[in-house]
Amino acid sequence: MIKLEAAGLAAKIKEEVKTEIERGTRASLAAVRVGDDPASAVYVKNKIRACEEVGIRSEHHALPESTTTEQLLDLIASLNKRDDIDGILTQLPLPPHVDETAIIEALDPAKDVDGFHPVNAGKLAMGRPVFVPCTPAGIIELLDDRDIEIRGANACVVGRSQIVGRPMAQLLLQRDATVTICHSRTRDLAAVTRTADLLIVAIGRAGLVGRDHIKPGATVIDVGMNKVSDVDEVRRLFGDQADKRLEVVAKRGSTLVGDVNPAEAAEVAGMMTPVPGGVGLLTVAMLMKNTLKAARLRRQ
Ligand code: NAP
Repeated sequence: MIKLEAAGLAAKIKEEVKTEIERGTRASLAAVRVGDDPASAVYVKNKIRACEEVGIRSEHHALPESTTTEQLLDLIASLNKRDDIDGILTQLPLPPHVDETAIIEALDPAKDVDGFHPVNAGKLAMGRPVFVPCTPAGIIELLDDRDIEIRGANACVVGRSQIVGRPMAQLLLQRDATVTICHSRTRDLAAVTRTADLLIVAIGRAGLVGRDHIKPGATVIDVGMNKVSDVDEVRRLFGDQADKRLEVVAKRGSTLVGDVNPAEAAEVAGMMTPVPGGVGLLTVAMLMKNTLKAARLRRQ
């Protein structure tokens, strides 16, 4: 089984953005975060750090948990108006009392570098993408980088969220794959996923997809990012490779696990993305690429 490590490709994408910035394209990103969710804080920190690496100017608006929908709408409106801001990202999830849909719909679609605004989702669905959500866009870059054939492939996407599953399915369709979308109501999930040459899993359930879900030789893209702290669960997921992960659990209290059981998938898959070290790295790199694109389109 070939591990589809993504660090090299992520570095290459960021290097291309950096070169463009050094040639004189100015770009800036405003990151908005509400509340104290530690995972969100880490994601935003990584995005800001990537901006620094490539030379994109960034600003971080960290707002208290008590922020109301109206206050957030005011901030979005002011960022929309500012000419020196090219891209706006609102880190999800927002606290439950904030109307997430209203916030996403308030973004100027031309600054929507996450590609979540209905205008951008609609354009993607029509086959005329402008800003595509970073995670699925990064997966397409990875498949292309490794010459994995999309055209004509039986592709199965497990998960139908607005940020991963749906746009992923659209992108694969656009590239002439035959696409099946599965979700929590799919009957006999394994029977469906087993038909896929290309299996993309984005469900948020640690190690749910195992040996029986995977066609021998298939390419498996694991989008999931789940924290697992139970040592028996770690042993089940990593088999004879569990020792290193158990050390991580002992040190940090948990280890990061995808939606695919890595030990079982290694027995059947042809290629597979690791977690960590796979899709997550590409997501941040694609955010840099989208921000550069927003800057270019706005200043044309
Ligand atoms: P989400 O919004 O919670 O959506 C999960 C999807 O999975 C839903 O469509 C749900 O079906 C489906 N699902 C849940 N349980 C299932 C099951 N047992 N069988 C089949 N389908 C099932 O999640 P998301 O935002 O797409 O994220 C998915 C995972 O990817 C999470 O682990 C998240 O942390 C990770 N993620 C990673 C990155 C990255 O950069 N690597 C980026 C984004 C997300 P229903 O629609 O029927 O409820």
